[in-house]
Amino acid sequence: MTQGALPCNVCQQPLPEPIYRAAPQSSLSSLRRAMDGTLEVFCCAACGHIQTVELCDNGSFYDTEYDILVGSEEEDQIYAVENGQKIFRADHQVATFQRKLALPEGARVVDFGCAKSATMRLLKQQRPDVNVHLFDISDRYVGFWEKFLSPEQWATYTIPPAWQRSFDVVTSFFSLEHIPDLKTALRSIHGLLRDGGRLYAIVPNTFTNSVDFLVADHVNHFTHTSLQTLLANHGFDLLEADAQSHRGAFVVTAVRRPGDSKVAPVVDAQELADTQSAANKLANFWQQASSHLTDFETQHGSAPAVIYGAGFYGAYTASNLQQPHALRAFVDQNPYLQGSSLAGKPVVALDSIPDEVEVVYLAVNPVIADEVRHTVEAAYPNRFRYFRFQP
Ligand SMILES: [Zn+2]
Repeated sequence: MTQGALPCNVCQQPLPEPIYRAAPQSSLSSLRRAMDGTLEVFCCAACGHIQTVELCDNGSFYDTEYDILVGSEEEDQIYAVENGQKIFRADHQVATFQRKLALPEGARVVDFGCAKSATMRLLKQQRPDVNVHLFDISDRYVGFWEKFLSPEQWATYTIPPAWQRSFDVVTSFFSLEHIPDLKTALRSIHGLLRDGGRLYAIVPNTFTNSVDFLVADHVNHFTHTSLQTLLANHGFDLLEADAQSHRGAFVVTAVRRPGDSKVAPVVDAQELADTQSAANKLANFWQQASSHLTDFETQHGSAPAVIYGAGFYGAYTASNLQQPHALRAFVDQNPYLQGSSLAGKPVVALDSIPDEVEVVYLAVNPVIADEVRHTVEAAYPNRFRYFRFQP
């Protein structure tokens, strides 16, 4: 891909020089697989969008390789653990969706880029009156869909003409960050909605989930200013980009303007400057993170270690260790990850940390690192030395 000539996915303006260039071993997909190539991240000077260069052809990647959570029906990611109770991501998403949109009886909803659509399946259980439809660019999930919908309620690759302008709500749960061609996606979403219909999207917020910055197949890292620009350019009024309701993400609500009417995006110059400076800060954080890891390893020699967190932070930590032989296992609360392996090491439950372990890498969002450390300390008082990512 030619450098300097890349257009912004949101506003199409040419992007300036990259703000971040990763070491090759740090390029991991959201599925925690190492990917070929060098990851580069850009920040658009015109709209504040943060963009990652594609390392592979997205079309074939999603159709053939993207098997996130296809393993089992109940498998899902843990959103939070509160008082020992695990809260799964789909449960949290359905609760937030219902609270924010207050869907009318019989509302027509289509989940765009739906994958398994665990969220819509749960919604359907709680609100059987809602008329749920699904759309994706792959037919690999049909086996999941047919368990709760009939075939005319889903479509793959091409949107059926009868669906045009018929929906009250289009949902998109963690899909827009994967799509380089946002223009086509937003046009499709706009075309699906009736006048006054709403787009409800959840996308990662890299400023509250800093690891998102390094996820190679997240080509888009939306910011408040880039969301404003994207939605205005495609005939939507942004109602809310809520950074509180879903940890590490924006919960975006926008309303479709009548007909084909559009308004020019209005982006505050100060907010744009602040966004660019925050993006640069984040780039510096990650430039330094691997050297912090190396410093910590130098101090603690090759003491037996575990990595707490078998998600992206865990994979990142493992791939940056200079002495990977010291690593004994990953620890994760997610029962669906326990018993699997990552980077050749077993993923175990908290109560199964091997006796010889002295060091724990807290490979979690820095925002929850203290909480996680307390949980480990409660189970193993004064046993370990800890590494954590500094926010
Ligand atoms: Zn832009």
